Amino acid sequence: MATAPARKVDPDFEAQLFDTIDKWIERDLKPVVMHHDHHDIWPEETVRQMTELGLFGATIGQEWGGLGLPATTYANIVARIASVWMAPTGIFNSHLICAMAIEKFGTPAQKAKWLPRMASGELRGGLALTEPDAGTDLQGIRMTARRDGDEYVINGTKTWISNGIHGHVFALLVKTDPEADPRWKGMSLFIADKRPGFRVGKKIEKLGYKAIDSAELVFEDYRVPADQLIGGVEGQGFIQATGGLELGRINVAARGVGLAEGALRLATQYAQVRRTFGKPIAEHQAIQLKLGEMVTRARAARLLMLDAAEAYDRGERCDMEAGMAKFFASEAAVRNAEEAMRIFGGYSYSKEFEIERFYRDALLMCIGEGTNEMQRLIVARQWLKRNPV
Ligand SMILES: Cc1cc2nc3c(=O)[nH]c(=O)nc-3n(C[C@H](O)[C@H](O)[C@H](O)COP(=O)(O)OP(=O)(O)OC[C@H]3O[C@@H](n4cnc5c(N)ncnc54)[C@H](O)[C@@H]3O)c2cc1C
Repeated sequence: MATAPARKVDPDFEAQLFDTIDKWIERDLKPVVMHHDHHDIWPEETVRQMTELGLFGATIGQEWGGLGLPATTYANIVARIASVWMAPTGIFNSHLICAMAIEKFGTPAQKAKWLPRMASGELRGGLALTEPDAGTDLQGIRMTARRDGDEYVINGTKTWISNGIHGHVFALLVKTDPEADPRWKGMSLFIADKRPGFRVGKKIEKLGYKAIDSAELVFEDYRVPADQLIGGVEGQGFIQATGGLELGRINVAARGVGLAEGALRLATQYAQVRRTFGKPIAEHQAIQLKLGEMVTRARAARLLMLDAAEAYDRGERCDMEAGMAKFFASEAAVRNAEEAMRIFGGYSYSKEFEIERFYRDALLMCIGEGTNEMQRLIVARQWLKRNPV
């Protein structure tokens, strides 16, 4: 089953793009990471630079002003940035998943109204699915939308919404028929812009993934025009909200790859300068065993990421490949960050060194875009389907 139109990129353009991103990372991103992470400050200037780089239009079609990048190119960009600082990749990824729901399922009028401003980064988006009592079990959400003339009236609370404070527009999952059986048939997805009735409840304080805002969003008699129901038909919301998950999981895999490679890079450098018993610790076999495993893990994660992204770019169904990549790369990120912490010894625990951030940030990758428990179930179910007796 085809899930996305096949996309290709000119190799020269791709090489130029990677070069531009690499230079930006070295010149502008690296110097500001620790300050923003330690103080949990929204990276205004970084966001402005990412807008200039076109990252907010990375996967949006060129007809809407985006770059229309294939998943392979996009994943490579994400991994490059995440190998230095993972958090900013979450800002444009949440935005792009919101834009994808509109591009894939929206009416022509909705695409024309929202996508050009999202592709330019003038409007930043987010995905609002999770509620205080429903994360994995999305069909258990309680937020309702009731039709009232040319509007819908929405009530309920979302939580953990990335870009919740600084974003402008959200793909909002609600129940238009709370009694529907099966439950997913009563769900709809709205384009929710900030207007009266929509307020940020609170900013959630987190272990890692600092600087990007995760917020509770409260909707109280929030009135949204009926033409902001994505696709214009009720009951499609669950399919629309989960329709972007393959690309979302490839993105989380790419973030995992970046974290795994970044932790490896830091550990490799440190192991060659830190000396004990008269030689660099890299010459001790115990450290080499760790590095050997870390390199292998990072490489395997990258290959799984590319395997999933290539399948996606060919327009193939790739929930199994994306699930494997997301699961493996995020676990690789956690393991590599932990092993790097051990290689750094006592200094790993100091905020003067960067490695502790990799450890804090990596843990999130096992949760977002479907927990790793769920990924294993998705992989197994798809595997059994593809291999019937
Ligand atoms: C920093 C951060 C940013 C986030 N950003 C967003 C965002 O932008 N938008 C958004 O909508 N959400 C966002 N989320 C929410 C995230 O998607 C959810 O936390 C995630 O889906 C898990 O849901 P939950 O936390 O409710 O866990 P639960 O669903 O309560 O799960 C708890 C545990 O039970 C396991 N479990 C649940 N059901 C099963 C099952 N059937 N079989 C086996 N195991 C099961 C889970 O794997 C997990 O280990 C974010 C979360 C975090 C931490």
